[in-house]
Amino acid sequence: MSNKTRTRFAPSPTGFLHVGGLRTALYNYLFAKQNGGQFILRIEDTDRARLAEGAEKNIIETLRIFGLDFDEGPIRQSERLERYKERTEELVKKGTAYPDAGAVRFKMGKDGVTEFTDIIRGEIQIENKTQEDFVILKSDGYPTYNLAHLVDDHDTAITHVIRGDEFISSMPKYIALHKAFGWELPQYAHLPLILDKNRAKLSKREGEVAVYDFLDKGYLKEAVLNFVALLGWHPSKSDKELFTLEELIKEFKLEDVQKAGAIFDIQKLDWMNGEYIRKKTPKELVRLAMPFLEKARLTLIPTPPPYEGGGERGGGGSSFLEKIIALEQPRLKKLSELPEKIDYFFKEPEYDAGMLKWKKMTNNEIKKSLETSKNILESLKDKDFNKENLEKVFLEKAGNLSAGKAGDRGELLWPLRAALTGRKASPGPFEIMEILGQKKSITRVQIAIDKII
Ligand code: GLU
Repeated sequence: MSNKTRTRFAPSPTGFLHVGGLRTALYNYLFAKQNGGQFILRIEDTDRARLAEGAEKNIIETLRIFGLDFDEGPIRQSERLERYKERTEELVKKGTAYPDAGAVRFKMGKDGVTEFTDIIRGEIQIENKTQEDFVILKSDGYPTYNLAHLVDDHDTAITHVIRGDEFISSMPKYIALHKAFGWELPQYAHLPLILDKNRAKLSKREGEVAVYDFLDKGYLKEAVLNFVALLGWHPSKSDKELFTLEELIKEFKLEDVQKAGAIFDIQKLDWMNGEYIRKKTPKELVRLAMPFLEKARLTLIPTPPPYEGGGERGGGGSSFLEKIIALEQPRLKKLSELPEKIDYFFKEPEYDAGMLKWKKMTNNEIKKSLETSKNILESLKDKDFNKENLEKVFLEKAGNLSAGKAGDRGELLWPLRAALTGRKASPGPFEIMEILGQKKSITRVQIAIDKII
């Protein structure tokens, strides 16, 4: 294809950009870029009653976040009213449009069938008797979508119109208008609906929420973009599911977009997000997770353990955070889950004494187990207080204790881990103690001992 390929994304600023809108923008962007063409942003703001404050800004900002840079625009329809009036007058003069109670209507032929080819759906035929004369210019002087989009597509030399399939049934109108103006048709590609798990149109409650909300919920932008790309498209010859924007530009194929509705599966997004979380370095994750940590007030960095030595800039705090986050990175699905998982590093855990109990241990046994742990912790030298060494010493001790008895490692390690975290599930005690440091670890074990009556 030659480099004059031009596509556009033409949202109405009636609210924040939704998942469906992001997909339309993405496909238009990919198609333009893979053909060396241009991607244009047009704001369809002619329905004055439905304009939403901040919507245009949100749309532009969201495109920027996802790297879908437009080459031209934003072109605002509200700034082109003269142009629509002129085109309307032209049609009235030609006799294909007429004033009707202050508005102007286009005369729609009702005979025969309109035939056209859609890049995704193939040959389509629609009977013209399904159509009626339709308003092109309203009494308030604003054009309708039906006229405005088509005049703009023509004036900006759009070659491919890629949009939602709710516009298919109106294609006879658009084709008739093109004929009346004597204009060539662009090519059309109508994208499938996005459906929820029950195959119903995606509702506001499910995924038809602002793309921003996904970022707020702790999804990474790479994951959201990748997920959206696969709503209706996947490569025809491979099972590959993880794509960067660059890879999408190379591999996306408009003609491979499916006709059937695309299912919005939030579990898949969760999985994908986890994959992208694992690609980050702990340092990057700290930066990305910071808004969530701040919201949960987990950024007051506690005194770093002594072995951190204060760090070069006297802080040591960010590497402390990196270590904590690295612990959760292998299992994390969403950044928003992080504060709840790691808060015990920042404040003394709250829990009932029952949490310390492994299987059928008696209070006396729990107390003894914790005292053993405390003794081991106190016996270690500062320089030996690291994960490997802790693991070695504790496992040795646990082995000796359980040898020949009915007991098991859990009798030593469960009360210890529970004392450190106050919870049933967490990473292992050795990693945790290395991060908490010797003093804090001992304090927590002592607090646990004191809980047992
Ligand atoms: N303003 C229309 C919408 O938001 C755009 C449709 C089109 O791309 O032509 O649905």
